[in-house]
Order: sequence, then C-alpha cells, then structure tokens
Amino acid sequence: MNVEAYGAHAGDQPLVPLKITRRSPGPHDVQIDIAFCGVCHSDLHQVRGEWAGTVFPCVPGHEIVGRVSAVGDQVSTFKAGDLVGVGCIVDSCRECEECGDGLENYCDGMIGTYNSPTPDAPGHTLGGYSQQIVVHERYVLRVRHPEDQLAAVAPLLCAGITTWSPLRHWKVGPGKKVGVVGIGGLGHMGIKLAHALGAQVVAFTTSESKREAALALGADEVVVSRNRGEMAAHRKSFDFILNTVAAPHDLDALLALLKRDGAMTLVGAPATPHPSPNVFSLIMKRRSLAGSLIGGIPETQEMLDFCAGHGIVADIELIRAEGINEAYERMLKGDVKYRFVIDSASLAG
Ligand code: NAP
Ligand code: ZN
Ligand code: ZN
Repeated sequence: MNVEAYGAHAGDQPLVPLKITRRSPGPHDVQIDIAFCGVCHSDLHQVRGEWAGTVFPCVPGHEIVGRVSAVGDQVSTFKAGDLVGVGCIVDSCRECEECGDGLENYCDGMIGTYNSPTPDAPGHTLGGYSQQIVVHERYVLRVRHPEDQLAAVAPLLCAGITTWSPLRHWKVGPGKKVGVVGIGGLGHMGIKLAHALGAQVVAFTTSESKREAALALGADEVVVSRNRGEMAAHRKSFDFILNTVAAPHDLDALLALLKRDGAMTLVGAPATPHPSPNVFSLIMKRRSLAGSLIGGIPETQEMLDFCAGHGIVADIELIRAEGINEAYERMLKGDVKYRFVIDSASLAG
C-alpha cells in the first residue's frame, strides 16, 4: 500500500513529504494505522547523517502508537481495533541468546524501525513519520493507557524504555540516590520513572529555566551542572547516574559524584566522543562507567504496563508533520518540554 510519509533525501536536506510503500501483512504481521509518532534526538542524529551509515531516503520515527487495521492469518494476540505501539525494533534473528532472553535490542541481527536492511522496498526500513507501518507481531506492544492519552504514550516507546531498562538493570528503587543528567525527552522520563520506582532523584540540567519544572516531574532536587558549588555538594553520594546528554561533555565531573561502587550509565549517543574520563575517576572508588541500548520487547511491555498502572505518560508538544524541521532546531536548543510528537493525521494534508 502507498502511504504518506516525511523524510529526507540527504543528510544536508530538510525533511519533505514522501510517498512510501508498505508490504501487505504476511501471516504473522500486524498492520498499524499510526496515530502519533514521537520525535527522538536519535531521529535527528540519523537523518542528518551524524552517525555513520544513514541510507536515504530516510524516514525516521520509532515512538509509534496507533490502532491495528489488519492482521495476518496466523496472528492471534492482536486484532483490528487494538491500541498498540512499536518502538525501535521491528525484527531480530529470534534464535540467539539475546533474543532467547528477550533482549532483542542486543541481537546482532536486530532490525531497527528505520535505516536497517529489509526485503521491503526500498531495501531499508522506514520509520514512523508515516501513516502506516506493518510489523511482525513479536515486536508489537500492547497499549493499556486510556485512548485520550495516546499521543503522550508515544514517547514511552523509546524515551521510556531507554531509561526504564537501565534503571531496572541497576536495581534503582527505595533507598537509592539516583541522578538523571539532561532533562530532555529521555531525561524527563528517567526522572518520572526513577521517582515512581521509589528512588531519591536528583536532576542535573544545564538550563536554569528547567529548575522548577524538573521538581514538578518528580525530582527531589535539581542541580544546575554549570554551578560548581551545587555539584560539589553531591560529591561521592550517588548509587547510580543515568546520563542522557546528547552532546560531548565532562564525564569526570559526574563520576566524582558517585559513591564507592556507584555506576554511571550513558544512554546519550553524541556524534563525537566525550573528552574524558580520566581512569582515576573510576579506580579511586571502584566506580563503573557503562552504556545501555533501548530495551528488549518483554521489558518494553513491562514498562508500558507499569506506566499505565501508575498513570505515567510523557510531557509533550503536539506538532503537525510539516513542523518537523523547526522542531529539530528547537530540540537542539533544548527548547521543548519535553518531547515533540507528530500528529499523524496531519500527513493526510
Ligand atoms: P533531547 O530531548 O535533545 O535531550 C537531551 C538533553 O541533553 C537536553 O535537553 C539538554 O538537557 C542536554 N544537553 C544537550 N546539549 C548539551 C550540552 N552540550 N551539554 C550538556 N547538556 C546538554 O534528546 P533525547 O531524545 O532525550 O536523546 C538524548 C540522547 O540519547 C541522544 O544522543 C539520543 O540519540 C540518545 N538516545 C540513545 C538511546 C539508547 O538506546 N542509548 C535511545 C534514544 C536516544 P538540559 O537542558 O537539561 O541540560
Ligand atoms: Zn529514540
Ligand atoms: Zn537474535
């Protein structure tokens, strides 16, 4: 089927309207009419060719929610009319240890929702800035939030799971002091989720203007990271720091805030390397520096169900598809509270 989409023909070109083709549903496929798609900073990195290997035309978008419009004849878990989501993964090998453990995000054969090889035209996957998507049922998530929250659920499919997975893996909960660095799309979800998991949460921001707002998100305290005195007050005190910053910055200044055996996990993926760390930042207190990539399908469902049960959604600004280029510029300036979401109805013109 031909559908309307938004994408770019080259890394130095703006996003423009495109017509793309979606395959007819195979036996295990779910066809989804996309209602909303969140705008992740990874979309910008990818479509502008900031990471190696972008193939064009590039249609970004991996925070997808919508309604099932058709299913293949072998699909029993979903039916037409169901509210569903699709995140960053649309396929994987289904045979390796990672797939067996439900950590398809670490499968060497993971197929991303955009920019990954596929037999479908044009030979690489095209994402959620589009009217429709067809996905194997294994990679489709059930949405249990009320329908009127659907637009604000979309960012959970990447920003939500990318912060949930490390918070759970590093056992964040009551009695733990947790830092969340960067209050953007990912960071604001990290604050909400760490707070809901029962941790003491300190938000780190470069933006003085986000101080009050971060408290409203659930932070117990806010540190403006350019303020040395505020930083020094927290030295050697954190169990865990989740770092979502999308640009190179001084990691040593943050590692110094971890107590003995504390860990900082990087989820931000800047196009150029960080200037640090100094090995002494790690060895003096047996600290760890780690990374984490989105999350697996079972834990994504766990996160969605946790959020539905706790009334958690993203704070969003709804835009029309033709506003995407301006939205990218504003995202680069940190001028969004806290996630743009495309209303897919605007793709119809
Ligand atoms: P975002 O909405 O743009 O938020 C990033 C935040 O980082 C900004 O709001 C800002 O927060 C802070 N920041 C930006 N530039 C900075 C600088 N030069 N110095 C210090 N802080 C700065 O982006 P996002 O969508 O949350 O994504 C964040 C990063 O995670 C991106 O690199 C994205 O590609 C990556 N990502 C990774 C995964 C994964 O699986 N690991 C998944 C999704 C996204 P303040 O204003 O509060 O300082
Ligand atoms: Zn993302
Ligand atoms: Zn696999």
